[in-house]
Amino acid sequence: MTNTPCTTIPDADVFFPETAEQLALAQSLCARCPVTATCLEQAVTLGVTDGVWGGQLFERGRPVTEKRRPGRPRKTATAA
Ligand code: SF4
Repeated sequence: MTNTPCTTIPDADVFFPETAEQLALAQSLCARCPVTATCLEQAVTLGVTDGVWGGQLFERGRPVTEKRRPGRPRKTATAA
């Protein structure tokens, strides 16, 4: 069995991030994991619904690029 960062980190909740900082930490841990590609492949095959798997964030069963903020999306665009 391979020791992976998500099995050895004291607070594995970062793999189910609530903030952008937690997401960044989880993705940095996945980036140095020896089974990243296999993990992501398995996550897709198994249809995981949420969390960071193989460095990819999933929400509601779909891969997403960033953590959504709580609440409704803005109705108007904001200046960058
Ligand atoms: S790639 Fe998968 S096994 Fe490796 S740390 Fe990330 S979630 Fe854990």
